[in-house]
Amino acid sequence: MIAIKNYISGGLVEPKTQNYLEVINPATGEVIARAPDSGPEDAAAAVKSAQDAFEAWAKTPTEARAKILHNIANLIDLHREELAKLEALDSGKPYSLAYEKEIPRAAQNFRYFASAISTGQSECFPMGEQGFNYVLRPALGPVVCISPWNLPLYLFSWKIAPALAAGCTVIGKPSELTPLTAFKLSEICKEAGLPPGVLNIVHGYGAKIGEALTRNPAIKAISFTGGTETGKKIMGGLRNTFLPVSLELGGKNPALVFKDCDLELTVNELIRASFTNSGQICLCASRLYIEEPIYEAFKSLFLTKTKMLSVGDPFHTETSLGPLISKEHRLKVKGFVDRAEQNQCSLLLDGRSTMSAMQDGFYFGPTIIEGAALEDPINQQEIFGPVVTLASFKDFNEAMSLANGTPYGLSATVWTKDLSTAHRAAHQLDAGIVWINSWMVRDLRTPFGGMKASGLGREGGNEALKFFTETKNIFATF
Ligand code: NDP
Repeated sequence: MIAIKNYISGGLVEPKTQNYLEVINPATGEVIARAPDSGPEDAAAAVKSAQDAFEAWAKTPTEARAKILHNIANLIDLHREELAKLEALDSGKPYSLAYEKEIPRAAQNFRYFASAISTGQSECFPMGEQGFNYVLRPALGPVVCISPWNLPLYLFSWKIAPALAAGCTVIGKPSELTPLTAFKLSEICKEAGLPPGVLNIVHGYGAKIGEALTRNPAIKAISFTGGTETGKKIMGGLRNTFLPVSLELGGKNPALVFKDCDLELTVNELIRASFTNSGQICLCASRLYIEEPIYEAFKSLFLTKTKMLSVGDPFHTETSLGPLISKEHRLKVKGFVDRAEQNQCSLLLDGRSTMSAMQDGFYFGPTIIEGAALEDPINQQEIFGPVVTLASFKDFNEAMSLANGTPYGLSATVWTKDLSTAHRAAHQLDAGIVWINSWMVRDLRTPFGGMKASGLGREGGNEALKFFTETKNIFATF
């Protein structure tokens, strides 16, 4: 049993509440760890610690800050296997996914922002004989970074790394469902030489400590990734303040498959886009729209290949889909499928059958649904599970109105060999990120975020560094 502690002022500490919550392995339903069930007083201690550490960290030369971030990246690489195991244990994701993609990406997050501050350019605007302007970007202060359970260390580090690089001190709050890798990160940061108080990690329920973190007057910015409803709650609590907020929220991502696509490649990539991490990635495709002439061919190949995916133990090498994160989440996913069935949709593949076959964990198999109207909840609300709908479209305009017909605007994919169709669609889609003939190819230099109910602001590259800094213009005459 792992005993998780909060990380405050450079020390691993028990919560002042003396309360703990149980961390469950979703593959077995067994308790694998206990984590602090922190309260507002723990949140306040973490904020105070970040506040006390801020001045010295902001004044630390860029080179020294970058060196520590590089140390953190190197230690993540060194502990890659252990971190991947921890990630698979509390999130249920396949070990191979954590080992191959997510843990290396967490290291890369620190490495990228360490390099970005080492090579960043300064801005100066000469005004002839009058003098010159220059721009300073001082760190904002102590900031709060809140992350979800689906890509635990990947997303936690995606927020913390730019904040620390920019010179901010951080109070991090991982999801209470997946605290294991954040706990390990606190040990890593200490070993890497991060001064006490620069990063603080508070574990517990968002509902109990979220307010104490996000409404503390000492906080200078909030970077949040999670559900749209939680994002609204956070925004609602910030009325009458001018706090910078970055919100990375939910999605209901469309895929537009045109008749001239490379069918084999499209099906293979859309299976990856639909079912990676059991569909529990904000960028997963969940509505697949296929041009009429190839609808039946696409459906048949997509169905055949999806049936070849294996649902099972996250630690087995052949596993494609592990369990869903929790019993409650599986019930929610099942509820969507039940309602679609009641609404006379056809279930081409029904993942509910996995529930009775694999009773120990929170498993749910790939599910493919046909015949759902655009207005149906299954096409309008984020399910965050291995459930996709298929529908056909007649022409480009119908494809666009189907794709843009939800409150969300996170990502979209377009599948065609016609460059003009591809770019015309990419321009017209309501999406913060569009992939053409590919899915989830990321470059850390690019801006990342969603439109409409999928978020506010952008992370990644310079956007992230700018978010965590103030912009100051200074004019000097000769
Ligand atoms: P939640 O919104 O439930 O939780 C996200 C984080 O916020 C958790 O750490 C949670 O803590 C915390 N939290 C909950 N309530 C509050 C509150 N009132 N104030 C402050 N923090 C709070 O999302 P999930 O963890 O369920 O994650 C899934 C969601 O995340 C999906 O909607 C998905 O689309 C979205 N997401 C978006 C991404 C993007 O980049 N756009 C990327 C990945 C996921 P606790 O766990 O204790 O509730």
